[in-house]
Amino acid sequence: MKKLILASGNAGKLREFGQLLATVDFEVVPQSTLNVPEAEEPHCTFVENALAKARHAARHTGLPALADDSGLCVATLGGAPGVYSARYAGEPKSDARNNEKLIAALQGLADRRAHYVAVLVFVRHADDPQPVIAEGEWHGEIVDTPRGEDGFGYDPHFYVARFGKTAAELSHNEKNAVSHRGQALAQLIERLRHGL
Ligand code: IMP
Repeated sequence: MKKLILASGNAGKLREFGQLLATVDFEVVPQSTLNVPEAEEPHCTFVENALAKARHAARHTGLPALADDSGLCVATLGGAPGVYSARYAGEPKSDARNNEKLIAALQGLADRRAHYVAVLVFVRHADDPQPVIAEGEWHGEIVDTPRGEDGFGYDPHFYVARFGKTAAELSHNEKNAVSHRGQALAQLIERLRHGL
């Protein structure tokens, strides 16, 4: 198996990405095990931040690297919170305060359309001129009243009409089958399956 550095320390992502990437012959190693310092994420697009993180991990390890960046884009807010989703209400990061801020920003507004975005970037090496980029979108609408106990982040307020549920009311498997991250990951695996 070939080694691949994952530019994230998130245990859930490591498990989810690790299982699928094993099917295309990659062993996924979290960057923390090789003491890669956290990368800067200074850009205002998901793809630029994911690319910066992937190049950073590859540069520090000399191995191929995979990074992701994701967030929620609300149509009537011009795509906010976007790349600032994790820290929308400032530091320290708090899902509860982020959700409060989002619901306050939408008070009195009828247009509730929103979508999650996930971008995955794979680089063969730090200076790879043609990174493999996969992107998924999951559309829904923001509801004022939170529902559901599963999920994280904005999920209790992210209502998906097709299910008649918020993302936090879906099981882990139901969400992965349709989510932005699930779609991006499926695309990436397909690309890697057909060779680099
Ligand atoms: P990261 O790319 O994993 O750092 O995620 C960025 C932020 O986007 C998270 O902290 C959440 O606020 C939001 N986000 C991304 N994906 C999801 C999701 O599937 N559910 C809820 N919030 C999400």
